Amino acid sequence: MTRRISILGATGSIGGSTLDLIARQPDRWRVAALTANCQAQELARLARRFDAEVAVVADETCLPELRDALAGSGIEAAGGAGALIESAARPVDITIAAIVGCAGLAPTMAAIEQGRTVALANKEALVSAGDVMKAAVARCGTVLLPMDSEHNAIFQCLAGNDPAYVRSITLTASGGPFRDWSMAQLAAATPAQAVKHPNWSMGAKISVDSATMFNKGLELIEAWHLFPVALDALRIIIHPQSVVHSMVEYRDGSTLAQLGPSDMRVPIASCLAWPERMDTPCPPLDLARLGELTFRPPDEDRFPATRLAREAAAAGGAAPAVLNAANEMAVAAFLAGHLPFTRIAVTVEELLARYVPPAAASLDEVIAIDAEARSVARQMLELV
Ligand code: NAD
Ligand code: MG
Repeated sequence: MTRRISILGATGSIGGSTLDLIARQPDRWRVAALTANCQAQELARLARRFDAEVAVVADETCLPELRDALAGSGIEAAGGAGALIESAARPVDITIAAIVGCAGLAPTMAAIEQGRTVALANKEALVSAGDVMKAAVARCGTVLLPMDSEHNAIFQCLAGNDPAYVRSITLTASGGPFRDWSMAQLAAATPAQAVKHPNWSMGAKISVDSATMFNKGLELIEAWHLFPVALDALRIIIHPQSVVHSMVEYRDGSTLAQLGPSDMRVPIASCLAWPERMDTPCPPLDLARLGELTFRPPDEDRFPATRLAREAAAAGGAAPAVLNAANEMAVAAFLAGHLPFTRIAVTVEELLARYVPPAAASLDEVIAIDAEARSVARQMLELV
């Protein structure tokens, strides 16, 4: 049976890995919408290759280029925030939410409102919207599949078990490229060094998040929303090999873990085929060749991000949305060469001390809080 799919953030790392799997099952999939921020040439190439119904650029200034690149193809071209949301609302069997940052929130919510299946890679959207997104999922009867490798692992380890028997959930973290660096080295870390992840190939923003450990902080909040456990039942452990993707411990002392190669096509395939399984081209895990898997506790003195995320979740209200907005702004400033690496966490902590409005009750309120937090962060960053 053919399934209709839309990919929000099709030109990114997750978008590309998803399309790689789709290309291997051409009879199974019909591509509805493919979206990007700009990257008109690449988006048009993908839209032609996958015979998409519509290609959308969020940045409207890129629409003329997209139109030219799609001329004669019969594929619809659209641009702007409204067009992005409209394309996400087109009926499909599954939407891949793979835009980076809170920019993906409104289109992801539009996909959720369809009441079908949404595979969520865009963790910033859930961190910012939290209960608002969960309420929409419940109201619309949407199936929300976690695509983030850790959350996909936990989802698999929870399958068939009563959540009441869960004692704790442990998220594994590679520790990023700087896990063994001193404070002095971290202070001098460059964007080029930060985006070079030892195990995973990912977009620039999540690579920096991995280096600061904000990725794990965001994932802690993501797990807290997705799974029925209290904040103090969520743990983080450093596991440099990225083979164990996360674990669930049950009351009887059994711990279930999901293992696999560090290739996002594994959790993506798990979402695409769910509740069935599909083949992937990933080489099978060879534990004998790996020899050993190691684990150690995180160091929150050098990497305060996970502490800040735990505190933001505990504080409640809009604190997680503010943490996310501050981090997005600080990461952009770091990547642009305007902010030292170690100031990313300092910026987030300072913004959380200055601005925490009450919890949002609607999507519009989340978006307003995100915008206000960015504006305060922008002023702060100019002071640095
Ligand atoms: P990426 O930077 O490679 O791609 C991002 C995509 O979003 C691109 O298609 C880009 O055009 C689009 N985009 C960027 N800004 C936009 C905007 N303002 N409006 C609309 N579209 C915009 O990012 P990625 O690494 O693929 O990550 C995507 C999401 O998945 C992130 O939330 C990330 O945290 C999450 N994630 C990624 C990985 C990974 O391995 N890459 C793993 C787990 C989770
Ligand atoms: Mg992850």
